[in-house]
Amino acid sequence: MTFDYTADQVQLRKAVREFAEGEIAPHVMEWDEAQTFPLEVVRKLGKLGYMGAIFPEELGGAGLGYIEYAIIIEELSRVDGSVGIIVAAHTSLCSNHVYKMGSDEQRRKYIPKLASGEWLGCWSLTEPEAGSDAAGTRTKAVRDGDDWVLNGAKTFTTNAHYADVCVAMAVTDRAAAQHGISAFIADRGTPGFRAGKKENKLGLRASATGEVIFENCRLGAGQLCGKLNEGFVDSLKVLDGGRVSIAALAIGMAQGAYDAALRYSKLRKQFGRPISEFQTIQNKLVDMAVDLDAARLLNYRAGSMLDQGKRVTRESSMAKLFASEAAVRIANEAVQIHGGYGFIKDYPVEKFYRDVKLCTIGEGTSEIQRLVIARQLLKSG
Ligand SMILES: Cc1cc2nc3c(=O)[nH]c(=O)nc-3n(C[C@H](O)[C@H](O)[C@H](O)COP(=O)(O)OP(=O)(O)OC[C@H]3O[C@@H](n4cnc5c(N)ncnc54)[C@H](O)[C@@H]3O)c2cc1C
Repeated sequence: MTFDYTADQVQLRKAVREFAEGEIAPHVMEWDEAQTFPLEVVRKLGKLGYMGAIFPEELGGAGLGYIEYAIIIEELSRVDGSVGIIVAAHTSLCSNHVYKMGSDEQRRKYIPKLASGEWLGCWSLTEPEAGSDAAGTRTKAVRDGDDWVLNGAKTFTTNAHYADVCVAMAVTDRAAAQHGISAFIADRGTPGFRAGKKENKLGLRASATGEVIFENCRLGAGQLCGKLNEGFVDSLKVLDGGRVSIAALAIGMAQGAYDAALRYSKLRKQFGRPISEFQTIQNKLVDMAVDLDAARLLNYRAGSMLDQGKRVTRESSMAKLFASEAAVRIANEAVQIHGGYGFIKDYPVEKFYRDVKLCTIGEGTSEIQRLVIARQLLKSG
């Protein structure tokens, strides 16, 4: 067991931080206000190898592991959670579903383009009536000759409006419930496949979240991804990795909020002294720092187990649950340490406070993480 970053990991963090501070930080508030999707940044991240960190080099990926992937998401999210979630949904949901469950042909067709950032991916599981209970999916795929015809609407899909590729779950055998849902890959431009309403959100406003609609959308047999009827079960495996990226998203934003609060506490003077000299403020900073460290350790454990090819349902749920709830606490205290200025958009912490809340909801709410962890604990007890 070792708790040191490798020299390469230190270098990677530095490189991503420099990119985020140089290319993203100057635009964050403007993108947030106008809900501008940073497509140019996505292309640049692709050129740097950050859109396909976890995929092998022979498929155009960077050949890195989950710790490195978490470092990339953390550093992007430390500056802008919107960029963090765009990369996370693209990489660990869409691309990873194709990489893990797809055929060799699908891997060769999609992963190089996704990993280079030339194509952006999205992943659609959630529906208006099927959120936490995602097995209640209603979108259906009916066989017609060799083809599949999809009808239905997905909701809350990250990247929906900018994606070139969508992995979507649809019912292929209603009687079989969880074992009657399959995953399909839909390419942008396929007739009958389009993005619908784009949501106006509390936070992560530069990321695009919205509907994905299928209207008599005909997909060839080669667009089925993974085994027929196993798409939902595969999704749960994909989400194990996805939760490491949501934890990293939370940790990155929490780090940004903590850094801002620490800096501000040393500059802001009240009663003739910097507020950092008051023990109450110090206690807040201590609790924030401990939460951050604990969240990182839980997440790197899950990441390192994923790198060893282990199943991490319990560990990634624990990391996601703790990191997201800790990040909400940290962002809240960061606003508090800023006093009235924390409420004002000239300071970065109000945005972290808004953005970070998604982490306790997306890819399974805190309540669902507790159900998942409880099931694992009871199974092993
Ligand atoms: C910004 C954003 C981005 C997203 N990106 C994607 C994406 O890319 N792809 C995708 O497929 N989805 C995405 N989602 C959807 C997200 O995963 C769901 O919103 C989430 O799973 C919760 O589903 P729901 O919103 O329907 O809430 P519900 O399931 O309706 O939950 C409502 C409340 O009830 C609680 N609850 C539900 N069931 C139980 C239970 N059994 N026990 C205890 N409490 C329960 C929940 O915890 C929650 O507090 C995104 C959502 C947002 C907001």
